[in-house]
Amino acid sequence: MKIVDKHYIGGEFVESHGRDTLDLISPATHEVIGRVTLGDEEDARRAIAAAKQAFADYSKSTPKERADYLQRFHDAIAARADEHAAMLSYEYGGPAQMAGYLVESALHAILSAKEALKEIPFRKMVGDTEVTLHPVGVAGHITPWNANILYFCNKAAAALAAGCTTVTKPSEMSAMQMQLILECVHAAGLPAGLINVVHGLGTVVGAEITRNPDIAKISFTGSTGVGKSIARDGAETMKRVTLELGGKSPHIVLEDADLEQVIPFVLNSSFLNNGQACVAATRLLIPKSREGEITAALKQAVEANLKVGRPEESDTSVGPLVSKAQYDRVQGFIEKGIEEGAEVLAGGPGHPEGFEQGNFVKPTVFVKVKNDMTIAREEIFGPVLSVITYGSEDEAIAIANDTPYGLAGYVSGTDRAHAKAVADRIEAGNVAINAFSHNTSAPFGGLKQSGVGRENGVYGIQAYMEYKSVT
Ligand code: NAD
Repeated sequence: MKIVDKHYIGGEFVESHGRDTLDLISPATHEVIGRVTLGDEEDARRAIAAAKQAFADYSKSTPKERADYLQRFHDAIAARADEHAAMLSYEYGGPAQMAGYLVESALHAILSAKEALKEIPFRKMVGDTEVTLHPVGVAGHITPWNANILYFCNKAAAALAAGCTTVTKPSEMSAMQMQLILECVHAAGLPAGLINVVHGLGTVVGAEITRNPDIAKISFTGSTGVGKSIARDGAETMKRVTLELGGKSPHIVLEDADLEQVIPFVLNSSFLNNGQACVAATRLLIPKSREGEITAALKQAVEANLKVGRPEESDTSVGPLVSKAQYDRVQGFIEKGIEEGAEVLAGGPGHPEGFEQGNFVKPTVFVKVKNDMTIAREEIFGPVLSVITYGSEDEAIAIANDTPYGLAGYVSGTDRAHAKAVADRIEAGNVAINAFSHNTSAPFGGLKQSGVGRENGVYGIQAYMEYKSVT
């Protein structure tokens, strides 16, 4: 059992002022595998003060110095890459393959920020006006449990590239993963106060970060509901906000789509990370004319190829959900789908056979779904896919866009130009055609209620900076 009882403030692991603790429960077995001491407002304020103090010097560092720090940060995380992946599976339940991918993505995000530094227009002339870009100040980062290492590294790298110092409050369910990352950060020997982390609850530590006047910017990844409250609370002190929120992303399968390509694309995009992915394609829009053929192929593939298993096993496609609460929530949606008249094509309620312990859910596909059913409207955040048929392409696009979200979209079709034209009509910040792919150097973020602002590369760094004009 691992005890996480210290925060990381001013370059040191320090005792918590808050005394409450939270047991960390294995998603696979329900055993208690760890315990985290939850910080309080005082812990958050100490971290913010350390970051503010460090900002005075760090904000004056050169791009070259920042690039060197980012390289050290990267190398220290990379040195223990396998341990990070193993811890991710152990604490969170992400399948080993996915865990490896998330660690790689986190490392790529750091190097991508380092590279992007070369493209930042730190100074340029506009007529007789000198326009310079400056770091905004101390950045507060609040992150969810579904890809802790990726969100932590991506946000920290962008902030450090910009010249900001940081205070992160990770999900309370990611404490052991965070501890391991912090051991790497410490080993990297960055100047004290650049990276500070306080464990604790959102309503306590998260709320202090959101309201504290010494925080200039918040970058939040999490649910749309909490994102709205952060935008409201942050407005009091006019914080800059980047909000990466929920999604209910459509995947439009066009008439000419090749099923050999479509089916693996669906398995990848709809069930990745046990369905706990903001970009998951959770609404599959198929032409009515090909319904029988596509649903038969989908049922066969989900039943044959999506292996439910222990998260640490290399051939597992779908592991347990993060918590019992999340398991219950997802089961509630599956029941609701049946109650509202959708038909179960694969999976269904309850535990998969042989996985009665832990938070395992059957990969579930619903057919005969209408876009106004609860399962087509709400973000389920589990391995549950809704299949919706359409008549015309215009109808497909109308259904795709009939959602309060706008994070991701997907298109399958053999005529690439046509598929691209359809992608252009999807109201989403990120659309992928014919394969599950997101370029981590390109801007990432949502339209509508999926968020505000963009992360990654140059765009992500500039979100931590403001222009100053001197004429
Ligand atoms: P959540 O919103 O419940 O929690 C996210 C973080 O916010 C946690 O650290 C939590 O402790 C903190 N928090 C909670 N209440 C707070 C408050 N009042 N003030 C400040 N902080 C508070 O989300 P979750 O359940 O951890 O994660 C799942 C959600 O995250 C899903 O909706 C998913 O779509 C979203 N998500 C979005 C993206 C994206 O990039 N758009 C990526 C991953 C996850």
